Amino acid sequence: MWNNKHYFSLHNFRRHVAEAATMYFRGSRSPVVNGRRYLPLWWTSGEVRIFTEQGITDPTVNTVIDMLKQRANELDLKPFHFKVFGPHPSALQQVRDSLVRGQIDPYKFFDICVSEDYRDQSKGGMQHADIVITKRSFLDDTVSWGAASWAHGAMIFTLHGDRQHHTAFLKKVALHEANHLFGMPLHCDHYQNVDGYRYDTRCNMHYCCPTEVLCPKCKDFITQWWLQIERECNITKA
Ligand SMILES: [Zn+2]
Ligand SMILES: [Zn+2]
Repeated sequence: MWNNKHYFSLHNFRRHVAEAATMYFRGSRSPVVNGRRYLPLWWTSGEVRIFTEQGITDPTVNTVIDMLKQRANELDLKPFHFKVFGPHPSALQQVRDSLVRGQIDPYKFFDICVSEDYRDQSKGGMQHADIVITKRSFLDDTVSWGAASWAHGAMIFTLHGDRQHHTAFLKKVALHEANHLFGMPLHCDHYQNVDGYRYDTRCNMHYCCPTEVLCPKCKDFITQWWLQIERECNITKA
């Protein structure tokens, strides 16, 4: 059983992150859909595609893009470029395919994204990430605002009711989901006892998104993640 208060030396924390990155990249945690394993390579093109359901406004789309750009910049990641597709039928169909009782099952949605033909070069596609902003809610969960997965290169927002008007909170959520998309599978409270880092209950990487600020420990997590993915790619090439 995982213990949130488990003590990590800085060295062991970084080794733990590296091992997790490998597991998500080509190990037991890389996505398998219909028996086929998918290497998470969405980031290689740097393209992020944004789709919206009817009723999602331009300011909402721009807020999401701005926050992702801001976070990528803070984390010193290679810049992503964003392509806004709006309410494209392909994405609306994918949302419909991820519904259970009219609500979005995020795991179904992630699997559909990672295995879609649009990412498959042999079918005329290319690697990219997908973001869909919807007005629906998650399956048996009206509290969460979004979900994202690095392993699937996918992010989804559930902006039902008047959520689009709460711009300040939407910004925090978009930053939070950006951290997930950029490599953090879990939350700040998962690692409360890392040597050299003060545990910060105000970090953006708590489930409730208390602030916009990502604590230095979570920043370090994402930095180490990409260092390991870079190593993995060099191994694969060798
Ligand atoms: Zn944190
Ligand atoms: Zn989260």
